[in-house]
Amino acid sequence: MSAKQWVYGFGGGESGGDASLKSLLGGKGANLAEMARLDLPVPPGFTLTTEVCNAFYANNRAYPPELSGQVDAALAALEKKTGKAFGNPANPLLVSVRSGARASMPGMMDTVLNLGLNDETVEGLAKLSGDARFAYDSYRRFIQMYSDVVLELEHGVFEEILGSHKDTNDYRADTELTADDWKIVVAEYKRAVERELGKPFPNDPKEQLWGAVGAVFSSWMNDRAIFYRKHNNIPESWGTAVNVQAMVFGNMGETSATGVAFTRDPSTGDKKFYGEFLINAQGEDVVAGIRTPKALTKASRLEMKEPGESLEEAMPEVYAELVRVYQKLEAHYRDMQDLEFTVERGKLYMLQTRNGKRTAKAALKIAVDMAAEGLITQDEAVLRVDAAALDQLLHPTIAAGYKRDIICKGLPASPGAAVGKVVFDADEAEKLAADGVDVILVRDETSPEDIHGMHASKAIVTARGGMTSHAAVVARGMGRPCVSGAGDVRIDMKLGEFRALGRVIKKGDVITVDGSSGEVLLGAAEMVQPELTGDFGTLMGWADKARRMKVRANAETPADAATAVKYGAEGIGLCRTEHMFFDAERIAAVREMILAEKQSARVAALDKLFPHQRADFVAIFEAMGARPVTIRYLDPPLHEFLPHTEEDCADVAKATGLDAKALLARSKDLAESNPMLGFRGCRLAIVFPEIYDMQSRAVFEAACDVAEQGAAPIPEIMIPFVIAKKEFELLKARVDAIAEEVFAKRGRRVEYLVGTMIELPRAALKAGEIAEAAEFFSFGTNDLTQTTMGLSRDDAGKFLGTYVDRGVLATDPFVTVDADGVGELVGLACERGRAVRQGLKLGVCGEHGGDPASVAFFERAGLDYVSCSPYRVPIARLAAAQAALGGKR
Ligand code: ADP
Ligand code: MG
Ligand code: MG
Repeated sequence: MSAKQWVYGFGGGESGGDASLKSLLGGKGANLAEMARLDLPVPPGFTLTTEVCNAFYANNRAYPPELSGQVDAALAALEKKTGKAFGNPANPLLVSVRSGARASMPGMMDTVLNLGLNDETVEGLAKLSGDARFAYDSYRRFIQMYSDVVLELEHGVFEEILGSHKDTNDYRADTELTADDWKIVVAEYKRAVERELGKPFPNDPKEQLWGAVGAVFSSWMNDRAIFYRKHNNIPESWGTAVNVQAMVFGNMGETSATGVAFTRDPSTGDKKFYGEFLINAQGEDVVAGIRTPKALTKASRLEMKEPGESLEEAMPEVYAELVRVYQKLEAHYRDMQDLEFTVERGKLYMLQTRNGKRTAKAALKIAVDMAAEGLITQDEAVLRVDAAALDQLLHPTIAAGYKRDIICKGLPASPGAAVGKVVFDADEAEKLAADGVDVILVRDETSPEDIHGMHASKAIVTARGGMTSHAAVVARGMGRPCVSGAGDVRIDMKLGEFRALGRVIKKGDVITVDGSSGEVLLGAAEMVQPELTGDFGTLMGWADKARRMKVRANAETPADAATAVKYGAEGIGLCRTEHMFFDAERIAAVREMILAEKQSARVAALDKLFPHQRADFVAIFEAMGARPVTIRYLDPPLHEFLPHTEEDCADVAKATGLDAKALLARSKDLAESNPMLGFRGCRLAIVFPEIYDMQSRAVFEAACDVAEQGAAPIPEIMIPFVIAKKEFELLKARVDAIAEEVFAKRGRRVEYLVGTMIELPRAALKAGEIAEAAEFFSFGTNDLTQTTMGLSRDDAGKFLGTYVDRGVLATDPFVTVDADGVGELVGLACERGRAVRQGLKLGVCGEHGGDPASVAFFERAGLDYVSCSPYRVPIARLAAAQAALGGKR
């Protein structure tokens, strides 16, 4: 008796399985067994396990030898439970065959109902029910479904037959067809099958059953299912189960019905029973859209102004039973349920329950409500809300009913929506914004020189570029809505307009950008602002209690810093100073500094920049109060600040009085074939120490300024692109010296740290040595990913998609940190760093800090904080809490 159990029965007093066997029985089968165990009215049946599916594929599409005997035994048991017999015309047992993977999965074979009907059993069913019309209606449904999903016949064939029968008899609705009509249609259906397939429709119920079972298992490997699995990270090894269940009939006349329900409203989360049903109908009629289903409750029927009766009114007893059942199920599963039920001649049967899909808004409300009701704990509520989906709730959005006048579509590169006037130039955007005008920057593509204009804009549209283009990455970082790659957009700078799909939009015209859908709309759409209090605030409070890691933001302007604080940031993890250099007023001094041949001239240019930097830091320290601010010193290669073409150099020369030839020469001189690995980061300061000196002076003067006002700024100075301890030591010594100089002059001290970015493999390897000098580490996982994998983020788009599709990489490593490889370097650096300096502060900055899957990795690695764009701070807070809670279980 050691044969494996491939088949599990449920219902009718048998308790073969339960919800804990989800991986074996699939979601549908496990929940049917569970409902039966709870004594809910479930038609009995049996489940062929997911292991059958795996065995089927492991053995060249052959079943395990014991399967057929076990199915026969299960069928015999089912006959006993129902008092009917499969294929027996006197009292036929009919079944449904239903696929059921572990996770609900579109793409799998559709359900076949009424299986077991043939020319003989249909007569038995007619006699037994006293309703020949019902029997033949069931038969024609069966032939249609079986031919469609098992025999894979075009269903148009049947629609034509039915259509022409209705036409000849002048019928409008299917319900007008009589028993005799359906008999004729059935005969025609069968003839059509034989004609199309060259063999008759299977009359033998056993043959029908194995046909349907085989179709379910085969559908596990159809293109739709494979596609869905790939996009939802469902492993092929999970397999699907098959459920065979005794039929109950919602199409047995006016006291029968079928319906679907949610225990709470899946779009708002309101604690309101919600659903639809149809009288005298079967299976998918409710969702098929042939007849319009009706509301379950009287309240929602009235709200929808529907005529007729709700289930509550039409069948009050059944409704009361359904209410009892749904309350029991919700309390049992401790989550919102999505239910399917059928009423046969006044008796309720449950056919499915599962945790219901819901919008982000509903997920939030349901989690908070259920915790308040005592159904789940606060920690469970925190685990219930998908952190990534929270993004939908954090940005202004276009009102639901607003009628969209779409100009063009592109990629949804950065979420949220914004309204503004079209501009085509970054400087102009900045000027108008300074005058209080809301602007939207529309460009072919953006570059680092446009940053100030992007900052000044409410949203950004580009004609070119993908999801990881400059515009997309920068806009996400700034929390600006962005549509990138809107290929229909043709910008004409001379005329000051753009064209898209035959329309002309002029500079100054008002448009709305929906970065969540990728749409650009004409006019000012009606907007809805995000709600940061209420349920959102409550859940965030619970998340904050549960998490270990701190959450900081990447911010470089006082406005971004203020947003970060509003969204709950506990500090700034990355304040990039180079963005401050691009400002129209300062870029001239930056260029002068770059052109300088002598140190004295360089210092003179830097002196011009100094007051600006100092004012920047004052504003940021003021915005952040007593929260730490990590300031990264100048990082990009200098050529990014120079004009590149002869024409641009001439323009700049005219505007600044600099020499055009010198500009061009220097620009050529600084050009690098591989700037990502070039003269950048701390390398600049090793060669030109006065650059970081100016920045240090600005930081410490600003800190003293703010401290004088009674605040307690906490600067954390971060040296980028370090590869060696010596490099860091040289620079830290200068920082400390300038700090002492400023403190002496000002007669006060400010606490500060000097740390390093770990963004190059050598730095990770030498972390032990570097930690002897560095007071904190911040992992720059963007560059660390680029340099560890030898992948350029800006160029990898061409093949990265294929790599993910082919399974070479599990995910895009610039979206979710590569825990295996890059992660190993992070872990190693943490370990070596902390071995040398106990309690070394460890953080991460870069886009990964706002990605929930990456946050889970950083929790495992033991980092102290993550840092991400201000708008993703709540996502990171929730993800950090979930990671901490996940680790505890
Ligand atoms: P899906 O996974 O697509 O929802 P189901 O297996 O749940 O497919 O079947 C769809 C519908 O078919 C069910 O909602 C139910 O109305 C009907 N159905 C399935 N099995 C039975 C049954 N044994 N008796 C009556 N109706 C059934
Ligand atoms: Mg379906
Ligand atoms: Mg279903």
